[in-house]
Amino acid sequence: MNPVTSQIEPLITATAGTILLWALGRRLTANMSFDLGRGSYVGAFPFLGALLGAGLAGGIFWQQSFLALAAGTCLLTLTGFLRDRQRFSYLTLLPWCALITIASLFAATDTGGLFVISATVWALLIIFCLKIAAMVYEMPFILLTTSTLTQFILFSQQQFTQTAVLANLSLLTASIVMLIYSTGGRRVLTGSSGIFAAGFLLAAVSLLEGSGQLLIFGLFVPSMVILFPFALISTMIVASYFGNRLHHGNNRERIYSWSLRREKTVLFAGLFFLCLNFLALLVLIDAPGPAYFVLFLLFVFSLSVFVTAFARKETGNIIQTPAQIEILGITVDALLPAEVITRIDSYLRLTPEAAEKPTENFSGNNGAALFHIVTADSLALVRAGEDERFKNSMRRAALVVPDGAGVVWAADFLGTPLPGRVPGVALVSHICKTAGKAGWKVFFLGGKPGIAEQAAALLQQEHGIAVCGIEHGYFTPDSAEEEAVLEKIAAARPDIIFVALGVPRQEFFIARLRNCLKRGVAIGVGGSFDVISQTLPRAPYWMQRFGIEWLFRLWLEPRRFMRMLGIPLFVLQILRHKWNNDQKP
Ligand code: UDP
Repeated sequence: MNPVTSQIEPLITATAGTILLWALGRRLTANMSFDLGRGSYVGAFPFLGALLGAGLAGGIFWQQSFLALAAGTCLLTLTGFLRDRQRFSYLTLLPWCALITIASLFAATDTGGLFVISATVWALLIIFCLKIAAMVYEMPFILLTTSTLTQFILFSQQQFTQTAVLANLSLLTASIVMLIYSTGGRRVLTGSSGIFAAGFLLAAVSLLEGSGQLLIFGLFVPSMVILFPFALISTMIVASYFGNRLHHGNNRERIYSWSLRREKTVLFAGLFFLCLNFLALLVLIDAPGPAYFVLFLLFVFSLSVFVTAFARKETGNIIQTPAQIEILGITVDALLPAEVITRIDSYLRLTPEAAEKPTENFSGNNGAALFHIVTADSLALVRAGEDERFKNSMRRAALVVPDGAGVVWAADFLGTPLPGRVPGVALVSHICKTAGKAGWKVFFLGGKPGIAEQAAALLQQEHGIAVCGIEHGYFTPDSAEEEAVLEKIAAARPDIIFVALGVPRQEFFIARLRNCLKRGVAIGVGGSFDVISQTLPRAPYWMQRFGIEWLFRLWLEPRRFMRMLGIPLFVLQILRHKWNNDQKP
């Protein structure tokens, strides 16, 4: 099958098939709930419709290779549907996906053995890339359109089998229809069902025709392009998480410079991916010089879109920080350490009777007289999304302050910048400075035996604070030992209690403390005592200079590594939130 003209008829039927099955799919799934975010669920219906339409008009529907592809697509659609509906884990589904892919590729191509195995890995990789791209919901359509468009051009230049040409045509049609529909903010959700089906078809087309090189540029590179900023931001946060823990901002106004708008991101991505695809195409078909020139112009154009979309800093756009902002469903107070101290002072001046009648200022405390301050870093925000008990303890807190560059970055990125960070260590020394002057009684709880003593002694020496109790943090939760610690704190009647038990235990402990203490401020301060007591050695000077102090900390405490994996998850959740909720032009 060669000339493009012979593809007009299948093109029309593929379009009709897309629309028909899409409409049917919408009816069938109208009363089902899918936990995929805002938008209407279309699953793989448009892709199946296009495949059916193209196959019928192309007169190859009953050929073995086409039937095998169609059967594979249908089964993967079903597997993906199970994921969308029942939330089966990818690991459970993986063997089934692999089995279906192996069987249908085996039936579609007559070659067996090793080829089928490597082809299956290839297909699963492509599905994985499309899944990553689906972070921005119309990105898979863009990738599919640009990839299939270049294959379409390649197919019109050389001889290829009808099955591959028509399968490619159906993918192209369905993704263009979806793309056109989703302009203007309308959303169609393909879910795993659509991604599995489309990814499998795309892999099959490239394999049937040996045009895999096109996909390397068309799909892998773009997926890596999507992963790159994500990896960059994650590394940046990891670095600052461990690096300069004492750093905090002192300016209430921040310049809002993340001008990353959704439409521009999508336009840029489309153009950029097209350039990459065309480059591979030109190399493959041994194109003449002028073609490279046209590609160069296209690249310059996409670069200019990039510059206006990302690189231009919005000058003079200073945003006044609101009193509270929301990140991933958690309300964070936009305060600097000095302002936190003012709040603590006002809480401590409150009599228990007054505190029990919540006023506007103290409503977050729900009338309890022990005020809870949470220093939340990016990992705590991720945990809040997974752990309802922890989320509730954050919601009941009087203040949730941003501890860590991750939270500040997210606030900037979401367009509601925070004035700066309130790291636990800095907060402890700020509070002790005021406590020394105001005569607040301080209780130190947490850390290994001896650590809290060392930290308290150093702070007492520096600020002259009144220490009313010290207790290490190695006791079993909800045990008689814990009861004894609670009683000890209640008897000491402290104004300030630093609880250094780590997240989320310290927050749960403070929740219990509310029952036996009716006055004071309790602050979860994580590993602060280890830093203040100088138990954790600082990294060598050269490491600090190169900003890799965090690597040293990781070396000292390798158990942190697993927890650090939550940071990319945090970045991912923020990116998803931003790209899928930003409706601004
Ligand atoms: N800790 C404790 N009791 C425990 C577990 C931990 O007192 O049962 C202490 C630990 O010694 C460390 C702090 O709690 O000083 C937790 O620090 P980490 O850096 O792990 O927590 P994060 O600040 O990351 O929440």
